[in-house]
Amino acid sequence: VSVIKVNHIQKGYGKTKVLDEVSLSVEKGQIYGFIGPSGAGKTTLIKLIAGMELVDDGEVYVLGSKMPSLPVLQDVGYMAQSDALYLQLTGKENLAFFASLFKLTKKQQKDRISYAAGLVNLTDDLDKKVAAYSGGMKRRLSLAISLLQDPQILILDEPTVGIDPELRLSIWNELLRLKKEEGKTIIVTTHVMDEAERCDFIALIRNGSILANGTPSELKDLYH
Ligand code: ADP
Ligand code: ADP
Repeated sequence: VSVIKVNHIQKGYGKTKVLDEVSLSVEKGQIYGFIGPSGAGKTTLIKLIAGMELVDDGEVYVLGSKMPSLPVLQDVGYMAQSDALYLQLTGKENLAFFASLFKLTKKQQKDRISYAAGLVNLTDDLDKKVAAYSGGMKRRLSLAISLLQDPQILILDEPTVGIDPELRLSIWNELLRLKKEEGKTIIVTTHVMDEAERCDFIALIRNGSILANGTPSELKDLYH
């Protein structure tokens, strides 16, 4: 079952063409990777899928609805490339603020906060101010925020940037678990090759187009 369908989209800013004729589909429960150099158009593409930007032409469908669709946004967790956190608040206060934005009871909010913090291994640091967090801890807090609404679809822009290898592995194990045990569909951008290999399907993005798509083993020669 396709949960995401992108049909012939075009996107530019002023005279700069950023995406040209991009089409793809993502199956339910896949980890789908966008691989490509900086400036290729990966962030723009995932923002269009997440409903944060508008296409100039073409369509994006998520869970059967044309984006941006307000009800579908509840089911899409998005983690931006740079962290948008309240540095003067603690980790827990950040989570509580974002949890309050969703239609959840107080009890559900509390449960989701402990669940999301546990997933990213931040439980012991929740009472520290985010200003005192390392870069990796901030990335993990951002990831926890994207999980608060328990979305069917997770869209993650370079989720492991600035995170040390050990923790990178633990975040990837977590993504694999979310896919396997909870059937979540995950879109991830990366330029790290060993992360590409953990995806079920990848699209190589160059200059605003999909250069090739396939499984990591099919495309091995192209991205190494
Ligand atoms: P085309 O080259 O005909 O435009 P695509 O590039 O979309 O088609 O797909 C190429 C091949 O990859 C097809 O065999 C298609 O079924 C397969 N494919 C496309 N997207 C996925 C996906 N998300 N998961 C698995 N297979 C896919
Ligand atoms: P990637 O995520 O692969 O690094 P981006 O999608 O961030 O690529 O950027 C693709 C291209 O679009 C770049 O040339 C970038 O400068 C341009 N771009 C992205 N956002 C904007 C914007 N808001 N205004 C103008 N140009 C932009």
